[in-house]
Amino acid sequence: MNLTDLQALEERYLMRTYRRAPVEFVRGEGALLWDAEGKEYLDFLGGISVCSVGHCNPEVVEAVREQAGRLMHTSNLFYTEPMVRLAERLAESSLGGRVFFSNSGTEANECAIKIARKHAHRRGVEAPEIVSFERDFHGRTYGSLAATPGLASNPGLGPMLPGFRSVPFDDPAALRAAVGESTAAVLIEPIQGEAGIYPLGDATLLAARQACDESGALLILDEIQTGIGRTGSLWAYEQTPVRPDVLTSAKALGGGMPIGACIASPEASEVLEPGDHGSTFAGGLLASAAALAVLEIVDDPVLLRRVREVGGQLRDSLLGLDGVDEVRGRGLMLGVGLAAGIDAAAVGSGLLERGLIVNVPEPGTLRLLPPLTVDSDQVERAVATIEAALLSYAAQ
Ligand code: PLP
Repeated sequence: MNLTDLQALEERYLMRTYRRAPVEFVRGEGALLWDAEGKEYLDFLGGISVCSVGHCNPEVVEAVREQAGRLMHTSNLFYTEPMVRLAERLAESSLGGRVFFSNSGTEANECAIKIARKHAHRRGVEAPEIVSFERDFHGRTYGSLAATPGLASNPGLGPMLPGFRSVPFDDPAALRAAVGESTAAVLIEPIQGEAGIYPLGDATLLAARQACDESGALLILDEIQTGIGRTGSLWAYEQTPVRPDVLTSAKALGGGMPIGACIASPEASEVLEPGDHGSTFAGGLLASAAALAVLEIVDDPVLLRRVREVGGQLRDSLLGLDGVDEVRGRGLMLGVGLAAGIDAAAVGSGLLERGLIVNVPEPGTLRLLPPLTVDSDQVERAVATIEAALLSYAAQ
């Protein structure tokens, strides 16, 4: 079956929710992918921050293969060792409380939203409210969607879940003003990912922490894109002055297997009780085995320091290119702001033709999320490719 056949079948059988690039990938190794014609690509998107330990990482593949050969699923009605060991590892590496597993990022946030609402009801709040930032992205199920202002305004999908409001991004005064007695939680991304890589300032994070402490609300950090080493520490919050009450993770956690986690502080961990939440597949054997293998690789000071160093090298090189105005982000989560007038979508298509995969989250930005295991030569190759694509764009 060739690409034209796939496109015809997709057009007939798949709901039209995605605009796909005309490439069929068939193989991957580390930071490299190959399409059906055998063309090699350098993957600086990593399945949107999923393949952080590289494609087909041997340790992850072996963990999944070994687990698949022994036992794949039993349900959450029984004990399984990978899930319990993973919960211990996640809790001990962050907030010290308990974990609820899910199958995706949006579901991890659903759990956080349930914790926040129930926590507020216990304080006597009748109509709990969750505050997020404009342009935040928390997912596409109805709770997370309501906390994603850019998508929640889609009239065709209404009515939205009530009890959500948003304030201007990175505005500590607006955030403080929005948090009060009835606030259940502030649910925010430490670095906005889907919006185009916009880090939240420390002043705003501190304002959020303080406002939550004063009102009794929970601070929930959505680390679905920033977590698992992406910014050069296991969790992005470790490089900020705040510690959340609840942390959500997914994407890179499973190294390509679908898994999410909602991790809470000891106090917030006590909110949910039997019957409040559940999921058939969550914390399943295969995904948990993969996640343990991922953490074994990523939760390593040497690797995390390398992420900061290689990220610095990438940022400095990009800033030296004609056509690049700014580089935002931390570690290997970078948004390349192009000079006014440059169409990032056209540059992105040019890069794909030249064998470099990036993504264009907004008209003037290229988003780079390479594997954390990317080497210096691959970083140089990516920068040279971006330079060539920008030169060719300018020459048109
Ligand atoms: N939160 C953030 C910050 C994300 O970047 C995403 C996905 O891009 C999500 C939540 C939703 O995750 P998922 O697509 O796994 O549901």
